[in-house]
Amino acid sequence: MTNGAILIISGPSGCGKSTLLKKVYESIDDYYFSISTTTRSPRVGEQDGVDYFFVSKEEFEEDIKMGHFLEYAEVHGNYYGTSLKPIKQAVEEGKLVIFDIDVQGHDIVRKKLNDIVTSVFITTPTLEELEKRLTSRDTDSKDVIEKRLSNAKTEIKYFQKYDYFIINDDLEEASKQLVSIANVTRIKSKLFEKEKIIDNWLK
Ligand code: ADP
Ligand code: 5GP
Repeated sequence: MTNGAILIISGPSGCGKSTLLKKVYESIDDYYFSISTTTRSPRVGEQDGVDYFFVSKEEFEEDIKMGHFLEYAEVHGNYYGTSLKPIKQAVEEGKLVIFDIDVQGHDIVRKKLNDIVTSVFITTPTLEELEKRLTSRDTDSKDVIEKRLSNAKTEIKYFQKYDYFIINDDLEEASKQLVSIANVTRIKSKLFEKEKIIDNWLK
């Protein structure tokens, strides 16, 4: 009945975005998770084509030149981008397309597709807790963690550019909030086909 929609999720690395998403997928209907392309190296356990498409800097720059990205940005010293083609198709099929992208990507997608975008900024209760999570996740070197913490101090300043804000303290509570947001994202009035709805209603 409605057209497709986009749900953008942003927040400092280590705040729990992937954990939350994995938890809520079973409660969300007809979604499509956008797999980004990146030049960063895979972490232990990450799979090409599942977590990201892992490519070289040269390949990424070629894709930029060819206009393959809906948006891309440099984050923590690597390129990350969202390919246009699969997103276009998923939106046309009426899906809820979920993006895990940074604050720069959010700005770009907002400008391009504002009517169909809903966004949520997720964070930990404190910077200290973020450091604990990044350390206990044990996937990044000390240098990389330092860089992510330093970026987090800038990223948090943008939280009010987003429609919703979740403090991922208690995972159960945060999951419920994210499911609620995903559900309301689907019933934004702008997503409905106006003429069709009115014709049907007047019958
Ligand atoms: P992101 O995808 O935002 O980079 P992750 O989902 O990888 O973050 O989470 C980072 C770490 O924090 C993981 O080890 C995860 O198990 C842990 N974590 C996630 N949510 C919570 C929470 N609510 N309370 C405590 N630890 C959490
Ligand atoms: P990580 O390396 O921890 O997987 O991701 C680092 C950051 O890059 C996170 O803030 C994540 O949201 C962001 N990111 C992941 N994919 C994309 C993308 O396609 N575009 C943009 N702009 N940011 C992305």
